[in-house]
Amino acid sequence: MEFGFKSIPVIDGHIHFTDVRQMDAIMGIANTVPMRKFNLLSAPRPGTINQNPALIAFKDRYPAITYLSGGLDYTQVAAADGSTVDAATMSDNLGLQIETLHSIGFDGLKLLESKPTSRKWIPVPLDAPHYEGMWAALERLDMPVLWHVADPEEFWDEELAPAHARERGWYYGDGTYPTKESLYQEVDHVLARHPGLKVIFAHFYFLSADLERAAHFLDSHPNVCFDLTPGNEMIFNFTRNFDAARAFFVQYQDRIVYGTDIATWGLDGPNGLARALGTAWSVRMYLEMTGTIEPPEALAHWRRPDLDGFRGFALPDEVLEQIYAGNFERLYGGAPAALNYERARAELRRMAEVLDVNVSEEGGNNPARQALDLLQG
Ligand SMILES: [Zn+2]
Repeated sequence: MEFGFKSIPVIDGHIHFTDVRQMDAIMGIANTVPMRKFNLLSAPRPGTINQNPALIAFKDRYPAITYLSGGLDYTQVAAADGSTVDAATMSDNLGLQIETLHSIGFDGLKLLESKPTSRKWIPVPLDAPHYEGMWAALERLDMPVLWHVADPEEFWDEELAPAHARERGWYYGDGTYPTKESLYQEVDHVLARHPGLKVIFAHFYFLSADLERAAHFLDSHPNVCFDLTPGNEMIFNFTRNFDAARAFFVQYQDRIVYGTDIATWGLDGPNGLARALGTAWSVRMYLEMTGTIEPPEALAHWRRPDLDGFRGFALPDEVLEQIYAGNFERLYGGAPAALNYERARAELRRMAEVLDVNVSEEGGNNPARQALDLLQG
């Protein structure tokens, strides 16, 4: 199966890879969409530290096409209940973690810490002194960050929060979560202090319903980009405001990064592969084609009762080239960093020992040891 889109090179800037047994599945998707390279993400998680081991194993097997955005290790700075060490100790440790990731061959950092559910686990604002060493190291090493901040505004709204979000614990209106605006304020503080930071904000920074604000934000911060991973509200927000949205994509063509949010944990269910391919298909359809496009059956929950579908932008090739690859490569480099095997092995051994004590994953696998066993280089 081939999608039949334009033959412009595509880099998917946003794929969650969690399980070394799914390498072939990701390569299958890459060949179908098709995409030439991709950025695999790891995020901190109670019990398993993060998915850095699986990422290292993937880059070992496919070094020329695999960028990695690693996750932090909170077992070094926080107890299981989320309480952290003091600010100065945490700041120093996180700065060292960035240096370690960089020396192993991670190309960037993934931050999920500003998603409200993650914030509930580690309740430290990203503009707190605890994170200062991390930001300074990222800026100094010129290491890009893929940063998920907030969520769609309706997730805070008792009446508007969609069922699919509630089912996943993503209703934030009960007063125990930070507000969307407070999360944005943290970002403003961080960017004011570190203007050299290279950031891609995931999911269009959840501003697809407010393009004026999105434009103002990009104008104010020349080193940041938005990615196009949907948010099932996102493409329909563009359709509702079609002329302004298409003009935005042309005007900010050097600030928008293609991505799908395909996740290996989503591939196992009955509709998993259809959803992953349907997401890639949908994003490419509205960027490349004209007319009204109905989301595929696997993404029926994206549909809006008052609209027949979303409308295609049919963007010019030179705009697509930037969105599909050029902007990502400007931030992450034209080729992925090489793995330093000595440092990779040392980090995997360290993680394996922590996981031996800590691991709570189903089946009791130790992902760091799995990755160590797979490394060929
Ligand atoms: Zn994601």
